[in-house]
Amino acid sequence: MAERPDVVSLLQTLLRFDTTNRAPGDAEGELAAAMWIHDLLVGAGLEPVLLAREDAPDRANVVVRVPGTDPSLEGLLVHAHLDVVPAEPEQWSFDPFGGDLVDGYVTGRGAMDMKDMAAMTLAVLLDWASSGERPRRDVVVAFVADEETDGAYGAQWLVEAHPELFAGVAAGIGESGGVVESHVGAGGPVRLARIAAGERGTLHLKLTATGSSGHASRPTEGSAVLALVDALHRIGHHDWPLHMSPLVRAQLEQTAAALGVDADLDDDDGVLRTIDALGDAADVALFTVRASTTPTVVRAGYKVNVIPGLAEAEIDVRCPPGFEDELLAALPELVGDGVTFEHSVREPSVQAPIDGPWFDAMVASIQHVDPSAVVVPGCLGGGTDAKAFSLLGIACYGFVPATADPEGRRRSGLHGVDERVPVSSLCGGLEILAHFLATV
Ligand SMILES: [Zn+2]
Repeated sequence: MAERPDVVSLLQTLLRFDTTNRAPGDAEGELAAAMWIHDLLVGAGLEPVLLAREDAPDRANVVVRVPGTDPSLEGLLVHAHLDVVPAEPEQWSFDPFGGDLVDGYVTGRGAMDMKDMAAMTLAVLLDWASSGERPRRDVVVAFVADEETDGAYGAQWLVEAHPELFAGVAAGIGESGGVVESHVGAGGPVRLARIAAGERGTLHLKLTATGSSGHASRPTEGSAVLALVDALHRIGHHDWPLHMSPLVRAQLEQTAAALGVDADLDDDDGVLRTIDALGDAADVALFTVRASTTPTVVRAGYKVNVIPGLAEAEIDVRCPPGFEDELLAALPELVGDGVTFEHSVREPSVQAPIDGPWFDAMVASIQHVDPSAVVVPGCLGGGTDAKAFSLLGIACYGFVPATADPEGRRRSGLHGVDERVPVSSLCGGLEILAHFLATV
């Protein structure tokens, strides 16, 4: 019998598939990676399915269900995307698709986003298959395509076209969270891990202004460009009020307590002061305490002496849990007259319970491996595939565990250069994940 690959070599192999997600028709590497996973699982005696949209057979997903020993328990979903954002090799100090081991790190595009989770999950599945062990509850694992665009070929499509694959599933774990990192507290170093239990909603806007076109030397009232620029100015500079969701409040209170920082969450100034005092440990709280409306795309005109009749813009809009009605009510006045708007993306915020057995089991698993780690909940500023899976009523958490490297190495390079994870963090993360999946 062939020797079973360990988590490091599983990750190295995954990193060597170039699964770059450039555009809908330009992501052929996903199929090769999905087929490799599919065949590995079949070889281990599991029954995975390989699925892709009919119009895009390259954009492949793999889903496998491991039946639990207690059919009365609700199922758990584990999801990991196989695609990665592009890498510019000339800026890297190693091959982004080499999967090399360098100075105690596993290196490559996707090492922390999020082939690490795919590798750890595969390691657990292969271990169960060879030992005959089974989880208590059904565990459904989805290795998906296309997270780095919008999941139209991955999570979103699976949820729409194949909800039956997730029947009976009540909770899910996936991207972003569960990483133990060292922070400086009032009484010395504190090892802290944040489990994501929510995400801001995504409500991207497309603005369209129309006006009369003509010769630019004879301007008239009603310019499409000016109407659009005025709207962008109002929206982009709008000072959204603080809106503290119970999740972010819990995050700040618990993080402050762990670090010995005085939290003052009674008024806006106090909240901002608290976030500032927490520094890195506050993560993205500065953004998740309020909405953001960020103009990103502007299109108008083609020649300097011609007034265009059409001007368009796109705005990245993020909304904290519980603020959606207020945000939607404010938009018409901010956009103003002469400009129409529609939502190009409209995905509600995500919020999962932080006071129940799922969350407790994640905390217990982290502390099983690192007993002195403090675990707090948190909210993501952007979105992940959790948005799609939560449409099925699944309580989604960001939980891709990793332990702190004893020599201070850190995971780094997310969507940037030299992406890498410490070998020790990956192996520790596997221990946490295996404990969670076996005991939850
Ligand atoms: Zn990702």
